[in-house]
Amino acid sequence: MQFSDLNLHRSLLEAIKDKGYTAPTLIQQQAIPEILNGNDIVGCAQTGTGKTAAFAIPILEILHPIVGSAKKRKFIRTVVVTPTRELAMQIQANFDEYGKYMNTRTLVLYGGVNQNPQVQALKEGVDIVITTPGRFLDLYKQEFISLDQMHHLVIDEADLMLDMGFINDVKKIVKLSPENRQTLLFSATMPFEIRVLADSLLKNPKYIIVDPVSSTSKNIKQSIYFVEKEDKKKLLAHIIKEDAIEQAIVFVRTKHGADNVVKSLEKQNISAVAIHGDKSQSARIKALERFKNKEVNFLIATDIAARGLDIEQLPIVINYDLPNIPETYIHRIGRTGRAENEGRSISFCGKDEKTYWQDIVKLTQAKIKEITDHPFPWKESSDTNTSAPPKKDFRNNNKSQANKNKSKKSNSRKSDNSKKNKKRWY
Ligand code: AMP
Repeated sequence: MQFSDLNLHRSLLEAIKDKGYTAPTLIQQQAIPEILNGNDIVGCAQTGTGKTAAFAIPILEILHPIVGSAKKRKFIRTVVVTPTRELAMQIQANFDEYGKYMNTRTLVLYGGVNQNPQVQALKEGVDIVITTPGRFLDLYKQEFISLDQMHHLVIDEADLMLDMGFINDVKKIVKLSPENRQTLLFSATMPFEIRVLADSLLKNPKYIIVDPVSSTSKNIKQSIYFVEKEDKKKLLAHIIKEDAIEQAIVFVRTKHGADNVVKSLEKQNISAVAIHGDKSQSARIKALERFKNKEVNFLIATDIAARGLDIEQLPIVINYDLPNIPETYIHRIGRTGRAENEGRSISFCGKDEKTYWQDIVKLTQAKIKEITDHPFPWKESSDTNTSAPPKKDFRNNNKSQANKNKSKKSNSRKSDNSKKNKKRWY
């Protein structure tokens, strides 16, 4: 199938051509006609599948005749709700690129910054708002937002919003939207709550599932190093030098950990920069720009800060710490091997992370090469035998834990500490 088979306006086709895309991806092939037909959809697709364009392109097609000339008064016609500001900015960039020959105007809203410029832009008028949930509701309450003319509501990365405790805010936004809206919900995974949410908020949605969540891209060569926790820094520097790695994103579990990895790499004269929730918005944008421009070689990121980063053709992803949620592994390594490119993932597994690794192997069923030939293996007392009693698993989605305590109905993946800490990360 070609984009020209999708009956799109020539302004859109031209912009798509400028992007250099030859053919629509699977999710685009399925979602674009459904959205153009006015159907609600639930898209189950992981990052890297082209899902942003799968909703941005048909929305622009529908808006084009409505928006008309640049002089026509603007109303909010489309609202895209997304969990992080990075994702919001990336989605805006997509709308702007595909809509560059149209008169659509986009605006990103997110918290943690002065609201005045956002309010000013709303007053000047926009067609498409891409927003994190909290700031949108704040501005709505202050009556800077009217949804009377809204037609499309996109709920992006619904599973992450559930994870981050935003789902009630999302439900509030849905309630504020006109009844006759078209709703598009995207989620990389389909936990039960998202299914329930989709069934309650969408009208006869078409389900489009392009990639089972348990799959990792076949273009990614995955490897695992079993390494003592205290040796991870040395192993990282060793691999970077040994394999002459020029650029990679390195995932760590904590903000503190991210800063520590940066310091240790810098000591080895390896340029690195951290990106996490404690960094100011401008520092994060700057870090990302420096990484994209190859002024700095390694981006050390926590999961939340990294979600939504679109770095084209990233060759290598390094899991310095393993994620405690196996799906997160798929999201992380999905940043490489995108759009038919070859990719590589390198993971470190400390003894304390053994159960996490077992879960990842079980979920992905992928061929992951174990590298034993390295200077920092698990020490003698360590036990790589998977039949050994597993370490105590403190994760709150641990099934045995959940069974023991069925009265606790929350399925949130957030830690108890983060649940107690109501303050949002941004
Ligand atoms: P997404 O899943 O929206 O995060 O997109 C992943 C990447 O695929 C982005 O870098 C897009 O620019 C790229 N992309 C989107 N659509 C296509 C397409 N039809 N052909 C090639 N690349 C695409």
